[in-house]
Amino acid sequence: MRILTGLTACLCVLISAYIPTVHAQRAQFLHDSLKQFVFADEPVIVIRNVRVITGDGSSTRENQSILIRKGRILQIGANPLVPDDARIVDGSDLTALPGLVMMHEHLFYASSKGQIGNYGDLQPVAFPRLYLAHGVTTMRTAGSLEPINELQIKRGIIEGRFIGPEMDITAPYLEGPGSFLYQAEPIESPDEAQRIVEFWVQQGATSFKAYNFISRENLGAAIEQAHAHDFKVTGHLCSVTFAEAIDLGIDNIEHGINSATDFMVGKKADVCKLYNAAAYTAGLDVNSARIRALIKKLVDANVAITSTLAVFADYGTRRTRPTDDALSVLSEEARQRYLQTKKGMPAAMAAMADDALKVEMAFQRAFVQAGGLLLAGTDPTGLGGTIAGFGTLWQMELLVEAGFTPLEAIRIATRNGAEYLEKLADIGTLAPGKQADIMLVRGRPDDDINYLRNVEVVFKNGIGYKSRELIDSVKGMVGK
Ligand SMILES: [Zn+2]
Repeated sequence: MRILTGLTACLCVLISAYIPTVHAQRAQFLHDSLKQFVFADEPVIVIRNVRVITGDGSSTRENQSILIRKGRILQIGANPLVPDDARIVDGSDLTALPGLVMMHEHLFYASSKGQIGNYGDLQPVAFPRLYLAHGVTTMRTAGSLEPINELQIKRGIIEGRFIGPEMDITAPYLEGPGSFLYQAEPIESPDEAQRIVEFWVQQGATSFKAYNFISRENLGAAIEQAHAHDFKVTGHLCSVTFAEAIDLGIDNIEHGINSATDFMVGKKADVCKLYNAAAYTAGLDVNSARIRALIKKLVDANVAITSTLAVFADYGTRRTRPTDDALSVLSEEARQRYLQTKKGMPAAMAAMADDALKVEMAFQRAFVQAGGLLLAGTDPTGLGGTIAGFGTLWQMELLVEAGFTPLEAIRIATRNGAEYLEKLADIGTLAPGKQADIMLVRGRPDDDINYLRNVEVVFKNGIGYKSRELIDSVKGMVGK
């Protein structure tokens, strides 16, 4: 930030009461090669005649203007101030909504090329760009394979060497012995769990995720250590049931009912037996007393659930996703591998995945109806068709398919994430005083969520980035 002396008299009169006389050409911090992606970086920007979805679930407001000043939203209204030196952005036919706050993200692409020894390839350039291009301005990674690199990507974005969202970086998976993830250190004692959490807190991790094979005792120790630093713990559970994890104080559970081993016949304490999640889930009845009771236990303990419908939908029979646009960012090899895998999927397995998805959707609806905090995540793993950004919007489309209105789906992917991250004062909705994290899309996504695909510009911290240019810059790059 630099002191700017050239404020116009008019601007001073209008807004000097709010902001000290400090501002700058705000994209100056970006590396020169990245400036081509900037749509607007003036200190004062007014988006005029735009429809506004605030993200708190309330109805859309027509013909609004948004005044942005030094990275913050100063005013939203029908007749806001238009300072003389403001950059005017015409918002006709556009809808503004909050930048997405996505909660199960990865900086690696895990294709189907063999899980053992090569679970995922880091995407330091492509994934952050793809996330931002699709409206994601804040994301939590949910399990790290290359934590030092991921922390450096976060730093690189802050310092302008990369373009991407703000990041809550999760430490390496907190895992027990027996995992297929060779990158996860198998935790064998509570002492070790606490030492690992402490180490990654010192390295800069701000979030933790437990994984399939961790024991109750070690999970409990990890949660205690993370909470001592006011950091939260989520989990993709298996050896530990939902009920056990809730009692241990977990904050969030990933994916939904398909990883609740609570109902598994013959489940042994602290043991994860790999299972066919689709078959298991398809056999569950969301209206049963035992699942109703589990939902109540989650809600009473204020444990959030992260919805990751897209990664499961990819195993089903759909043909409309991923789009050709999404496939175009894959390397030729990754694209062929994905298409072959899809083709080779037995019809019975795909049908089972469809059935399981319906149960998962019903569970998530019931959870929200009971007062639960549902978050949204992309989880760009699985078969390989859930790709950063593209998969993010697919996830939102699936929330609508699950029975949420488009405004509810948007709230889940914006406000709810900010609430969980305890950043609602700064992000998550469009309101004066908040960070100018704004997605501008052509059309009316409150009528039809598919309009989110028409995202044109994404503002992060008051700098607008060109969505299409960011996507085109990483064609063929993912999965090399
Ligand atoms: Zn994941």
